[in-house]
Amino acid sequence: MKLNSDKKQLLKQYFGYDSFREGQEGLIDSILEGRDVLGIMPTGAGKSICYQIPALMMDGITLVISPLISLMKDQVESLNQAGLHAAYLNSSLTMGQYRKALAYAREGRYPIIYVAPERLETDEFLDFALHTPIAMVAVDEAHCVSQWGQDFRPSYLKITAFIDKLEKRPVVAAFTATATKEVKEDIIDILMLQNPLLATTGFDRKNLYFGVLSPRDRYGAVKNYLECHPGDSGIIYCLTRKMVEEVWEKLGEDGFSVTKYHAGLSDRERKINQEDFIYDRKPLMVATNAFGMGIDKSNVRFVLHYGMPKNLESYYQEAGRAGRDGQPAECILLYSGQDVITNQFFIENNQDNQELDELMRETVKERDRERLRKMTFYCFTNECLRDYILRYFGEYGDNYCSNCSNCLTQFEKVDVTDQAKALIGCVRSSRQRYGVNVIIDTVHGASTAKIRNYRMNENFYYGTLSKVPTHKLRQVMNYLLLHDYLSVTDDEYVTVKLTEKSRAVLEDDEIIVMKMTKDKEPAAKTKTEKFKGESGSVNQNLFEKLRALRMEIARQEKVPPYIVFSDKTLTYMSIIRPKNKEEMLTVSGVGEYKFEKYGERFLACLRENQSPETQGDEREEASAGGTQDS
Ligand code: ADP
Repeated sequence: MKLNSDKKQLLKQYFGYDSFREGQEGLIDSILEGRDVLGIMPTGAGKSICYQIPALMMDGITLVISPLISLMKDQVESLNQAGLHAAYLNSSLTMGQYRKALAYAREGRYPIIYVAPERLETDEFLDFALHTPIAMVAVDEAHCVSQWGQDFRPSYLKITAFIDKLEKRPVVAAFTATATKEVKEDIIDILMLQNPLLATTGFDRKNLYFGVLSPRDRYGAVKNYLECHPGDSGIIYCLTRKMVEEVWEKLGEDGFSVTKYHAGLSDRERKINQEDFIYDRKPLMVATNAFGMGIDKSNVRFVLHYGMPKNLESYYQEAGRAGRDGQPAECILLYSGQDVITNQFFIENNQDNQELDELMRETVKERDRERLRKMTFYCFTNECLRDYILRYFGEYGDNYCSNCSNCLTQFEKVDVTDQAKALIGCVRSSRQRYGVNVIIDTVHGASTAKIRNYRMNENFYYGTLSKVPTHKLRQVMNYLLLHDYLSVTDDEYVTVKLTEKSRAVLEDDEIIVMKMTKDKEPAAKTKTEKFKGESGSVNQNLFEKLRALRMEIARQEKVPPYIVFSDKTLTYMSIIRPKNKEEMLTVSGVGEYKFEKYGERFLACLRENQSPETQGDEREEASAGGTQDS
């Protein structure tokens, strides 16, 4: 059975959307013409639709190769909810279930089948594939073929051999969110894409707000943030398992509904916790970077980083899990100087590259150090944060986005020449023998055993900056390191060294002015701000009622709430307040099929809540500086 409809009609009918997003149409057309494609689009841009729609229009089955079981399950559930038949074949199925799915597939019941790369080689699957017309092989997370990428999977290398075995070469469509040059070239070469249409859509995610803060009390800052965003779903990323445990425990004690995820938990515990989060039973997730790949939860309203990740690729990928529904969402990085040291430790002790020879290992390490440097610089740059990220990925922004903490905060320009002189002078007078902490403690006048042991309490600079808080001194120190006024060694005992530029400060009276962030706790934002922008007239009460109904349905059907309707769809509903089917179908995200399933219940809910008091509840004072560019 093939759906011979127009692509736009399918988009509306099954997915409930009126128009394609950037890049989607070109990719779809190319696939339909039989030309290979490589779609490089950021997380949340809508890659799935690019192969799902042609899959519905082509003769033959589409195999979607995907690395993660959770991702497949989620996608298949979404498709089934939209009234489309799809199945997945992976190790989570029992033998019986697997055979049954294959039998149905042979009967042509599924236009789309998700399959794990390891399956491609098995006799049973090959037998199926060789006797069934395969129209397209869509490779999701295609960067997994590349050793340059972060998630290299050797099983991805088997894809080409599999395609070769097929009687007729299907269209090969590859998709990834990783944009670097090396990865792109690897994908084209290794998957042997034939004259592929390359579609790179902007990496900018306009609905995301970016912020960097270095609060003295990180936990307090997070707690404050959560109190300002009650009921919202969010992820808090930590650098280590230990940190996850600590933050999770404290938040639990403080009464938040929170779960956790890291590689030290059992499979079972991870699965339960992940589902608690996805199904909104526990809307807050504290996790290491082990969490998230393949999590397609669209209503994540914020991603907080309780520590700086090791590079911007990781940061953007993790932060990008916020706001996949296109609604305003926030990504805030809470930085502390210790994060650099922790990440340096990870890099130096990385055991992942054992199979490489010494020279290659050192090259990889050097690359990692460079990435860490750029990540650190993100935390200190005074420029537009969005611009900084886009430039890192080879794009150019506008220098000013009006939706990041740098663009929105008034930075203080501070003359730090005196501090710089003391820090650099201290390095020189102690003959470049000590690390960052000893230098800072000395100028600050700390009275610790270490300082006394090193006799730094007798140093000329001891206590000369006792009035400047250490976190400010650390900011100045970082500035000096990042701008090559000082450098650090890479050996076991990291020591601070002078550079050519040091002299300019000490002897030539160079003035150093840096922009310093005012100490500010995270986003003491009003609750209303989460609906800034397009949803200026959202009725919060009504939205909550719709959200409760969605939860009820999700529970009954045992699917995550966002699979029923996304936050964005509910927001539209509460703005438009449709009164009948026709109006309801104009809501973005409501297609025919979903209307049949849920439409009437939501209409009833809307009718019940048209009372004068809820109508009078429209509010929203624009929050300071909260312009939303979407
Ligand atoms: P990706 O795989 O690129 O990370 P998805 O395919 O999961 O992103 O899509 C992200 C979200 O965007 C999903 O909720 C999807 O339904 C939605 N989406 C995709 N295409 C459109 C469109 N044309 N209009 C509106 N929403 C869309």
